[in-house]
Amino acid sequence: MPTPKRLPPLPRVTDILKLYGLRAKKQLSQNFLLDLNVTDKIVRCGDNLSGGLVCEVGPGPGALTRSILNTGVEQVLVVEKDKRFLPSLELLSDATDNKLIIHHGDVLDFDVEASCRDHVKPSPWEQDPPLFSIIGNLPFNISIPLLLRWLACIPKRSGPFAFGRTQMLLTFQKEVAERLTAPIGHHQRSRLSIMSQCWCDVKWCFTISGKSFVPAPKVDVAVVKFTPLVQPIINVHYNTLETVVKAVFQYRRKMMIKGIRLLFPDNPRLADVMLQSSGVDPSLRAQQLQLEHIERLCMAYEEVTTQHPHTTSSSCHQ
Ligand code: SAM
Repeated sequence: MPTPKRLPPLPRVTDILKLYGLRAKKQLSQNFLLDLNVTDKIVRCGDNLSGGLVCEVGPGPGALTRSILNTGVEQVLVVEKDKRFLPSLELLSDATDNKLIIHHGDVLDFDVEASCRDHVKPSPWEQDPPLFSIIGNLPFNISIPLLLRWLACIPKRSGPFAFGRTQMLLTFQKEVAERLTAPIGHHQRSRLSIMSQCWCDVKWCFTISGKSFVPAPKVDVAVVKFTPLVQPIINVHYNTLETVVKAVFQYRRKMMIKGIRLLFPDNPRLADVMLQSSGVDPSLRAQQLQLEHIERLCMAYEEVTTQHPHTTSSSCHQ
């Protein structure tokens, strides 16, 4: 494979911030990575970058974008909400013969499937991931809603997963990354662990000290890689799983019946019916549940709600 063409000499990212008078905005969770050694390390964790398309969330002044471009990608599509970064991103685009496509807007409104369709060759689900990845040093304030939104696309094979088992390489606050990767019995085992591990191989890549960011957040950050599984570990509907897991983990250290009762506020007796029908040991705590237990709870929940359609808690369906 030919060596990827490196970027031409460019002003340093630190100088770009000075040049355009860019100061971090707290409301957009702006914590910049200016050290190319760190951003290069992030992209080295990606598997399918060279020759493909990368969609980067929140490029900011563009240090991570530079590292992505240096891997030999065919194209990078960046989605940035803060228009103050557009001139510096356009500079980068010009320096790369327009390899960089800039989308100004909110990633939560961004249609990945429609925007990337013309640039990605789909790969059958059962085969290797497509030459398309999502990468982002995510803004803390939207990292969890954004991830949950994308995870919900996996069973439907829509959004980023319309092209196959697209990998995502994303940063999270260290404590969130612990929840995402926590195994059964771990004190950080939570709703996020189940929702992500049911559909993805979730790998903790490495930790970045908070001190590496400008401005430095009070917490450390971890890079996490998600690779959708060919077959989910358990076969349940996304909404059912979300509803049941949300309830069960409401009281993580208590017996799970307490959480299950939240599913049936008008008829708590049905919580006992559901638990009995699942055959799961009622003395287990949420953190001890195997995915197979969760599957049985979801099936029992669907059974009970089919028989008693007006008894469920609306708050659990959000
Ligand atoms: N990638 C840059 C880096 O590593 O230095 C910046 C990362 S900073 C943590 C998050 C970036 O996401 C900022 O550039 C911010 O403006 C942008 N951002 C915040 N909310 C966004 C949203 N809803 N949609 C798109 N971009 C957003």
